[in-house]
Amino acid sequence: MSLSKRLETVAGFVSPGVTLLDVGSDHAYLPIALMKSGRIVAAIAGEVVAGPYQSACQNVQKEGLSQQIQVRLASGLKALSPEDGVDEIVIAGMGGRLIASILDADPDRLQGVQTLILQPNNREYELRAWLEDHDYQVTAEAILEEAGKIYEIVVAQPGQMRLSLPERTFGPFLLQEKSVVFRKKWAKEADKLAALLAKIPPEHVAEREELALKLAMIREVLDES
Ligand code: SAM
Repeated sequence: MSLSKRLETVAGFVSPGVTLLDVGSDHAYLPIALMKSGRIVAAIAGEVVAGPYQSACQNVQKEGLSQQIQVRLASGLKALSPEDGVDEIVIAGMGGRLIASILDADPDRLQGVQTLILQPNNREYELRAWLEDHDYQVTAEAILEEAGKIYEIVVAQPGQMRLSLPERTFGPFLLQEKSVVFRKKWAKEADKLAALLAKIPPEHVAEREELALKLAMIREVLDES
């Protein structure tokens, strides 16, 4: 079993020797790969839907890892309790708003957790805003392309940060780096916004202004090198 490039990049942010919670662990691919490579010592694979939960159970059993990986049918952070001693949490492959709502539903269960490794499929802005508002700081980021899709990964730890609007939008580290994939993502977004703007009638002033401001911010980021 080999991980996708996306999950491989997520796995690369997991610290050696930790106990991990993987929220939304449909096939338990990530905890299985991390256990087999010896990177982590134990994991909980949390899944809220019965079918994927059963698939995770079967895979863990098939790999002979039932002692090290506990598969739990639960929503979000309800899969863990303080005695599990979870050090790091992965929430990958979901919308940014859903990830933020999972964190927001049970903030008390985040006590003692050192690192959140989050891979939102969209609405990264909303996720960074949640982290900022809840005393997390972004400590690392990645952006990658796989099978024509672009994914961002946001790693956060407890701490204070104040992000500017561009940092919240583009990601503080991604903005510094401005990789080829980053430029591709935002050039495409700029084209989409420009096409949208062209269709909005002149009398819709506020709507046009909001879109034009966002477009100008993207163009400024892409133009300066
Ligand atoms: N994390 C894997 C990955 O990145 O490849 C699976 C991503 S899959 C698109 C999203 C999974 O999250 C689904 O299996 C879904 O049932 C599960 N999920 C959605 N909301 C959840 C929640 N509140 N708690 C636990 N799992 C959830």
